Amino acid sequence: MSVRVRYAPSPTGLQHIGGIRTALFNYFFAKSSGGKFILRVEDTDRERYSDESLDDLYQTLEWLGIKWDEGPVVGGPYGPYIQSERFDIYKKYAEQLVAEGKAYYCYCTPERLEKLREEQTKNKSEYQGYDRHCANLTAEERAELERQGIKPVIRLKVPTEGKTTFHDVIMGDITRKNKDISPDPILLKSDGFPTYHLANVIDDHLMGITHIMRAQEWIPSGPLHVLLYQAFGWEVPTYCHLPMVMGKDGQKLSKRHGSTAVREFREKGYLPEAIINYVTLVGWSLDGSTEFLSKEQLEKCFKIENIHKNPGKFDYKKLDWFNSQYIRMADDERIASLMTPYLVKAGFISDPPSEQEEEKIKRLVKPAKERMKVISDIVDLSRFLFVDEPVTDENMYIAKGSDLENTKVALEKGGKILFDMLRSGEAEEKIEEALMNLANELGVKVNGVFQPIRVAITNSQVSLPLFDSIALLGLDVAEARLKRAVNMIKEK
Ligand code: GLU
Ligand code: ZN
Repeated sequence: MSVRVRYAPSPTGLQHIGGIRTALFNYFFAKSSGGKFILRVEDTDRERYSDESLDDLYQTLEWLGIKWDEGPVVGGPYGPYIQSERFDIYKKYAEQLVAEGKAYYCYCTPERLEKLREEQTKNKSEYQGYDRHCANLTAEERAELERQGIKPVIRLKVPTEGKTTFHDVIMGDITRKNKDISPDPILLKSDGFPTYHLANVIDDHLMGITHIMRAQEWIPSGPLHVLLYQAFGWEVPTYCHLPMVMGKDGQKLSKRHGSTAVREFREKGYLPEAIINYVTLVGWSLDGSTEFLSKEQLEKCFKIENIHKNPGKFDYKKLDWFNSQYIRMADDERIASLMTPYLVKAGFISDPPSEQEEEKIKRLVKPAKERMKVISDIVDLSRFLFVDEPVTDENMYIAKGSDLENTKVALEKGGKILFDMLRSGEAEEKIEEALMNLANELGVKVNGVFQPIRVAITNSQVSLPLFDSIALLGLDVAEARLKRAVNMIKEK
């Protein structure tokens, strides 16, 4: 049987890193096993639904270059793939269960259920949940309730005895006593909306899903789903619950740790290939050591057996490292066009950029590639080229382990060495050597000489490499900035 897997998000928020990890695992598993990757939109919770979330889902997958074989937009033989367009299907199957005596109509009012809950809490009753009040209504009782115009829900009859087991590829056998499974959960609401459980099980069956790969937080729903498959007489797909995605502190990844929405990463200037590579390594590895894997490679080598059992840690620093590596590997033209909108937004260049500005961006690419962790870093890294805001706090010029006196000398003497040598066309290594010698004379580290010069020229402690910065500014402007700093610091 060929593999069919699905990503089945609910469009109730922006695509989360953890959700995308689920999508990637499903996608790579489908590709590597010659199967199909299906996208299904589980939008039955209309209160939490938003159009923006649905757009974000499509945009995020498109940005990552993840194409679905069947699903919304592209269609497929088992559509529609949006649950809100499948209500008649859910109704039909729910009613079938009622006809077979495996489910029943419940007419309880919200008030009655509320009272029941209150009593159970008050009495600290061991039995929690619905009391199966409507499980054995007679035909007459039902007819009477119908006459009163009460719209019923449909509830599944959960056995009170025995237990339910399902096998999970990663977690092994998971067993639950039936009496601990929520008593008679609602399958179809009175307004005709299915609950998650009903729609999910019916769709996975009708869409021929072979493997259910989803977050571990869905494990508690497993036994109930298995009961539903059994009630319908359907084969249970293979379960594969994925390890949680945790923050560094071992807690579930959330906003407390930093950005979690893929869109935010995209806006900061992460590259899709870095996100794909790193996110796939959270809870999965090829061999425990390979770090760089392209999407094309993962499409070939992804194996379910290599999914970890233990939670995966999402390390923002590691992602930054991957991203900076991918930025270096990317071609210059792409980086230039990715940087442009940030420079426009910062007001550094016009929209669209003039020819001269285009030229400037082009020249920025090489040094920027060496320093950017994310593309938006270009704004701070290149500010000195577009606006001139000198650093007036002398402490910013003083490198660790140096002091004001040495900094003054470093700026004045070092600056003179630097510009004299640049003007006479000396090689960078020679100039560096000369500045290192000055550092030795002063008894400071190299940075004791370089930092003040860099701050003077780039107006900042974070900057592009020094020689590139000077070349970008032009010798005269750079030297003028240095002299300005010398004079300013002298007066201190
Ligand atoms: N709609 C569910 C979600 O948002 C899908 C869970 C599943 O994959 O079964 O995660
Ligand atoms: Zn009832």
